[in-house]
Amino acid sequence: MSDKNIPYKIHLTEDELPKAWYNVRADMKTDHRPILNPGTLKPMNPEDLAPVFCDELVKQELNDKDRFIEIPAPVRDFYKMYRPSPLVRAYFLEKELGTPAKIYYKYEGGNTSGSHKLNSAIAQAYYAHAQGLKGVTTETGAGQWGTALSMACGYFGLDCRVYMVKVSAEQKPYRKAVMETYGATVTPSPSNTTQIGQKILADDPNTTGSLGCAISEAVEAAVTSEGYRYVLGSVLNQVLIHQSIIGLEAKAAMEKYSQYPDIIIGCAGGGSNLGGLMAPFMADRLTGKASPYFIAVEPASCPSLTRGKFAYDFCDTGKVTPLAKMYTLGSSFIPASNHAGGLRYHGMSPILSQLYHDGYLDEARAVGQMSVFEAAKLFARVEGLLPAPESAHAIRATIDEAIKCRETGEAKTILFGLTGTGYFDMSAYMQFNSGAMEDYIPTDADLQRGFAGLPD
Ligand SMILES: *Cc1c(COP(=O)(O)O)cnc(C)c1O
Repeated sequence: MSDKNIPYKIHLTEDELPKAWYNVRADMKTDHRPILNPGTLKPMNPEDLAPVFCDELVKQELNDKDRFIEIPAPVRDFYKMYRPSPLVRAYFLEKELGTPAKIYYKYEGGNTSGSHKLNSAIAQAYYAHAQGLKGVTTETGAGQWGTALSMACGYFGLDCRVYMVKVSAEQKPYRKAVMETYGATVTPSPSNTTQIGQKILADDPNTTGSLGCAISEAVEAAVTSEGYRYVLGSVLNQVLIHQSIIGLEAKAAMEKYSQYPDIIIGCAGGGSNLGGLMAPFMADRLTGKASPYFIAVEPASCPSLTRGKFAYDFCDTGKVTPLAKMYTLGSSFIPASNHAGGLRYHGMSPILSQLYHDGYLDEARAVGQMSVFEAAKLFARVEGLLPAPESAHAIRATIDEAIKCRETGEAKTILFGLTGTGYFDMSAYMQFNSGAMEDYIPTDADLQRGFAGLPD
């Protein structure tokens, strides 16, 4: 199809909103190794997981058979308020770069939570509600996940208890205010509301908290409160299933104009947005129908795929969660405080890890935050949209690929995930604009300390 017929935004109608999520595990040649019970080191069965997660989500977590999982009608109805999300042809970026490449991005920042995380939050809240639970607990670092979950719980009338890393709660009062507006209880972590929090505070009363500690508090709060379960916003198989909506919509929209990506790019924190964006295209790859090239982009300060080890590790610093086989920097690794808060996780989704290990996720690339903010500013200026720093990692790699096309003259089609808005990250932009931002790349010795804590 000739380019002049392709609109700037490709819309799907409400009817074209997918009716089922796609589960890539059903098509994977080698499944990832099972998650293990931290006590017995045996694979977790549904009974082990039931006290922690909702029943239906346990089934999804362990499901490696069903390619498609129907989206429940109430979830699909909620999706209709902000989906299908736009697929945009970045004509202005192409022009700015003078590239023959065709660039598309799928924008997930158009809902109040400001990111793709709402896609899974609403599904998880629905299953908790359908099971008759009173509420859910979770942790949040930068605040995107907590915000999305608060919205979802507010919609279904569920109680929502968020443990927010203390330093973030102090630095991002507006995030906390949004969550409270939707009815959530936000507790700065560590707190004296849990035993683990009391212990951490006794050891270090001035601690500013960490994600690992907030996870431990949220899990304890869930298993000790009648009618509560714990929910998580990335990394898990169930979250990747829900996020497949991103890729399914993108594929359907591109098909309307006979477009198909040669390269698919996403930022990778815990792996959920990239896992979701690439899912239906990975299906084509795994079944031999097409062979798009996949790139995961991570911060150089937290390089789990590019410099991590493929090993069994805990999902949290407190070592209360199951062990997962994944690319990891070690659960005790604390990344430097870079500005892509949503990408500061020590491990990577077991699905993405296995696909990377087997060569289906073709490439992982680590980028420094200075080059990320340069890309973000260029994109904001020419495309008019202020990206989240996390999303700008994917923009960086997209620009680099488009420049390669300029040099080789190849008109490749690039699809990338624009996961969120940058409105909540203005302190990061202020720091970049004032020249106060620095790159931080951990040394091998820094990484060695994290690896030393890996379980045997
Ligand atoms: C949380 C977040 C990410 C990273 O999480 P993934 O699970 O890797 O997708 C990326 N972008 C934004 C805007 C986020 O909020």
